[in-house]
Amino acid sequence: MAALLDLSIIELVEHVRSGSVSAEQVALQSLKRIEDSRSLGAFLHVARDAALDAARRIDERRARGEALGALAGVPLGIKDALCTRDAPTTAGSRILTRNPEAPIDSARAGAWRPPYDATVVERLRAADAVLIGKTNMDEFAMGSSTENSAFFPARNPYDPRRIPGGSSGGSAVCVASGAVLGSLGSDTGGSIRQPAALCGVVGVKPSYGRVSRFGLLAFASSLDQVGPMARDVRGAARLLEVIAGHDPRDSTSTQVPVGSYELACGQGVRGLRIGVPRQYFEAGLDTEIAAATQGAIESLGQLGAEILEVDMPHTKYGVSTYYLLATAEASTNLSRYDGVRFGLRIDGDRPEIHAMYRATRGRGFGTEVKRRIMLGTYALSAGYYDAYYAKAQRVRTLIRRDFERAFEKVDVLAAPISPTPAFLLGEKVNDPLAMYLADIYTLPASLAGVAGLSVPIGTTRVQPDRPALPIGLQLMAAPHAEATLFRAAAAWEAVRPERILRPPSPAGA
Ligand code: GLN
Repeated sequence: MAALLDLSIIELVEHVRSGSVSAEQVALQSLKRIEDSRSLGAFLHVARDAALDAARRIDERRARGEALGALAGVPLGIKDALCTRDAPTTAGSRILTRNPEAPIDSARAGAWRPPYDATVVERLRAADAVLIGKTNMDEFAMGSSTENSAFFPARNPYDPRRIPGGSSGGSAVCVASGAVLGSLGSDTGGSIRQPAALCGVVGVKPSYGRVSRFGLLAFASSLDQVGPMARDVRGAARLLEVIAGHDPRDSTSTQVPVGSYELACGQGVRGLRIGVPRQYFEAGLDTEIAAATQGAIESLGQLGAEILEVDMPHTKYGVSTYYLLATAEASTNLSRYDGVRFGLRIDGDRPEIHAMYRATRGRGFGTEVKRRIMLGTYALSAGYYDAYYAKAQRVRTLIRRDFERAFEKVDVLAAPISPTPAFLLGEKVNDPLAMYLADIYTLPASLAGVAGLSVPIGTTRVQPDRPALPIGLQLMAAPHAEATLFRAAAAWEAVRPERILRPPSPAGA
């Protein structure tokens, strides 16, 4: 009984379908673990009643002999940037609460309740998943540590003094701590892959257009993608198969058929060409992470993959390009929350910026969001547009071409995710540039719109002031080649089953 939440997604679904375990039992255990691990700050809202109702309905349908869906009874956490009709949705911000000035609990109690579900949420429900709650995140997904949450930070289950990564930090923590079996996050520049790596779980950023963005509160629309996290590769594959596919309500979602990701997990890597981009292993990369990454790549070679070095010369422009384009898009997207004052023209030498500044001085938005609205407005303003925004668009094309050229030679790229293991809470919070540099290895794939995955490959050594901390390997593949990512990641996991990580003392144990 006590081990139900230690099963994989695939195993648990079999138990629920056969009736050896009830969905209600699973949901109750999940709610208990969430309660026991509250100090990790993974959830902004726990949907206790709705989850138990959903679980009981699943059990009733099984009792009537109905066939259950691909995620029957699987408890999941949903990033709070995704609309859910039975739970408040804040995007980690106070701007979507009735009274942004109120203390934390009453602000959250007065949060917006969307009248509809995001498409991905609808698809999870249709597959009989049990949505347990909404997970903590950096405000509007802007950040790499979940410290920009307007409510409270989330904490790394391996060392609660450390950040879990971000912006989908809560989604990584709830899976890593064993409170749920999977979650959804969103990744604009690394927000699924990086927290997955820092918390020792599998995270997938699908290629742009693979998964519907309908009902995802937008950060930077040309980059945002929803994707799954799970403790093992197959679990993530099943989740992606459920949520992926064309959606008429999102004009950027593609018509390309969804792959058989779970099947791909059994195909092995014999004959697969894996590229190692030289530029991802230069100065600044932690030596233990470099060694673990190289070791994992060598293992894939021993399993039959061909390892080739590749050149991606524009990698170094990823951070500056991303932070110009993402802030520009964010400044446009976020104007809807304060439409009256945004766009107001006042006298002065840079009128639009003064107006934007005035609009963002209140309590509604936090510091990082205001900073980005200011930066983005500046980059888009007349006179600076060509020098910043237009130029960044041209560099984005060069970065995309780096990937196109690489994928002429190889099927998958293998690289680190994060230059360092999880850092301490507060360590970078007053140094935005240092925080932005933490995204150096995840931003290029986002700018190019390719598929990316993070798979745990081990931990750092225990040090006097620091426990062992998870390390992730980043795999990247051409648009819509997610199946190839699952092939490689599952091959690794099969030979290194002990690397399916568990935090030192699972929450609730
Ligand atoms: N850390 C990056 C940022 O702050 C990426 C965030 C994301 O992927 N949502 O913009």
